[in-house]
Amino acid sequence: MGSLYVVATPIGNLGDLTLRATETLSNVDVIACEDTRRTGNLLRHIGAKEFRYIVVNEHTEYDATKQIVDALNNGDDVALVSDAGTPGISDPGSLLVQAAIEAGHQVVPIPGASASVSALSVSGMDSRRFFFEGFLPRDGKERTDRLAFLKSVPVTTVVYEAPHRIAKTMNDLQENLGGERRVVLARELTKIHEEIWRGSIRDAVEHFSNAEPIGEYVILIESAPPRPAVTEDLIETALKNALVDGRSVKDAANDVADMFQLPKRDLYERALRLRGQR
Ligand code: SAM
Repeated sequence: MGSLYVVATPIGNLGDLTLRATETLSNVDVIACEDTRRTGNLLRHIGAKEFRYIVVNEHTEYDATKQIVDALNNGDDVALVSDAGTPGISDPGSLLVQAAIEAGHQVVPIPGASASVSALSVSGMDSRRFFFEGFLPRDGKERTDRLAFLKSVPVTTVVYEAPHRIAKTMNDLQENLGGERRVVLARELTKIHEEIWRGSIRDAVEHFSNAEPIGEYVILIESAPPRPAVTEDLIETALKNALVDGRSVKDAANDVADMFQLPKRDLYERALRLRGQR
């Protein structure tokens, strides 16, 4: 039975390839990678021999997984790498890992760089707990739903973004989360033009609307401010305010339910009582 080694590779600086990664990549029978040219360059850099490659990317992941499990069943050791960083983290890999586990193979982590943890480690933000969003959906309802969700995440949030989308994403964050929260934008980590930018979402919108969009980014977003305790008095006042100007009981109740994340039906009953309709 072969083993599957999940090998982290550098996110820019080749010096970040670990000794264990070098050893593993030099000794396995098969390399599962996203792009043979890119991984070939890395293997030449460490002077490793020529390999059997199996390409695992978003288009081939399903078929490649079957091929790799066959190789493992035949006793081959396989190293899974992605173009950069840790496989499976916003990169292909998790399907293969699942399949290898199900087929009874040993799955061995060979840890190393990941842009998310590297950015978090220098962010100065609370890193005791964090939420990894990865890439936001590109557009549509899926994107607005995720942005609405991020608004109330009570821990530091990590978002990945490509250079040409950074200005749009900062604008969308301002629209959905407001301009006040602190953000850290970590660009080109471990490379010559590494930059760690810190400021508010509002400042970031201004800064990145004019900046040359060069390099990949990790965006770290400060946690949502703690919600005020929801007391009976607070709900009552909010409902009274929402009922002014002849607004319907239903609209007022829905607004307050959204505001405090409470069941709409309860708020509707209370709003009816306040209007004297029950
Ligand atoms: N598996 C990788 C990891 O462990 O971080 C992530 C791969 S994902 C396809 C690529 C994204 O990671 C980029 O769009 C960017 O958000 C982030 N990233 C990768 N390398 C980076 C670097 N050197 N500096 C900043 N962000 C980087």
